[in-house]
Amino acid sequence: METSYETIIIGGGVVGSSIAYHLSERKKEGILVLDQKFPLSGTSGSTQAWVWVHNKTPSWYAEFNMYSAELYPYLSKKIGDVEYKRTGGLSPFFNEADREKALLLAEAYKKIGIKIKVLSREEALEKEPSLNPEVAGATYSSIDGNVNPFRLVDMYMRAAKKNGVQYSTYNKVTEIQKLPGKFIVSSRKGTFVCNNLILAGGTWSRELGKLVDISIPVNQLRGQILVTEPLKPFLHYTISGLRQAFNGEVLIGYSMEEEGFNRATTLDVIQETANMAVHYVPQLKKAKVVRAFSGIRAMPEDGFPILGNIPGIENLYVAATHSGVTLSPLIGTLMTELILDGETSIPIDRYSISRFDLAIR
Ligand SMILES: Cc1cc2nc3c(=O)[nH]c(=O)nc-3n(C[C@H](O)[C@H](O)[C@H](O)COP(=O)(O)OP(=O)(O)OC[C@H]3O[C@@H](n4cnc5c(N)ncnc54)[C@H](O)[C@@H]3O)c2cc1C
Repeated sequence: METSYETIIIGGGVVGSSIAYHLSERKKEGILVLDQKFPLSGTSGSTQAWVWVHNKTPSWYAEFNMYSAELYPYLSKKIGDVEYKRTGGLSPFFNEADREKALLLAEAYKKIGIKIKVLSREEALEKEPSLNPEVAGATYSSIDGNVNPFRLVDMYMRAAKKNGVQYSTYNKVTEIQKLPGKFIVSSRKGTFVCNNLILAGGTWSRELGKLVDISIPVNQLRGQILVTEPLKPFLHYTISGLRQAFNGEVLIGYSMEEEGFNRATTLDVIQETANMAVHYVPQLKKAKVVRAFSGIRAMPEDGFPILGNIPGIENLYVAATHSGVTLSPLIGTLMTELILDGETSIPIDRYSISRFDLAIR
């Protein structure tokens, strides 16, 4: 038997769950989220979870991230405590050539209203005394911070469910049929009919695209992260490369490796990551590392989000992005506007999938 919904979202990670929540705030009936495993089983459960604007380029992309970061304090008020902390972000540098680059970045950001301060060595050490005393300086932005990704996805999901959204987990979508005015979505546990269909499959977006005969050019990029034992709070800022979580653990790393869906952790990257951490914050040399994990980034071919409707297929939408933790409140808001109002309050044309060749390669 087929069950009908107004909207089906495929993928319950931070992006799909944010869309489900924001949509359900305005339209409570008929929303179903399907996930092949469970909402934290993909990238959203294996991330650093900085809410990060700092050093994103070009400046229009930084601006997009800033709008999303600005929504976080309200989000926590609406869906509950997601352990969001606007710590401010520091990017240390160790030579004068990097100071020049930092000054150029600060200038470019100034034009769009993002304040980046280029700190001297003394100012950087005054802010974060644990930094390596050999630091030459740092860029600082007050908008950056971090969040607990587990709480974030869980709270989106709870708030969405409270608004009537249904979740169906361990339910992989295997086929999508487009009929006039509706989609038929076949999954492991049954067949569903809907008017609007949103593809929020993260790193599996390419596979989902094939089900509707279009190319969604999202690649995989592995990142490995080390986690220390809980330490007394000592890091005041989110530092590009590491952050201290609410429970005292320090999460270190951001490797970028083209390894497909392989989620292994490897000794060479673990070693490199540990060296980076000790270079930035020497006292971490004595910290005990209790685990290492890896996550697979969903990386659109040109690095920028793919958002909006899919040309030529009415009521079919896609939301696939890196930096999905930072961007989730804004993506949820804008996708809701697009679906319900047909337009968005912040333009997303430059993120349209139509910038790529849609033919399957
Ligand atoms: C190491 C690392 C560090 C990162 N650091 C940051 C950071 O500091 N800040 C930041 O903003 N971002 C960061 N990111 C990126 C961020 O984590 C991701 O952009 C975000 O989690 C993506 O969310 P998503 O919902 O799109 O994908 P996912 O969380 O992967 O969700 C996609 C869901 O789709 C489901 N799915 C796929 N195919 C199907 C199907 N056929 N049927 C049903 N369900 C399906 C999957 O089961 C999955 O649950 C990092 C990522 C990594 C790997």
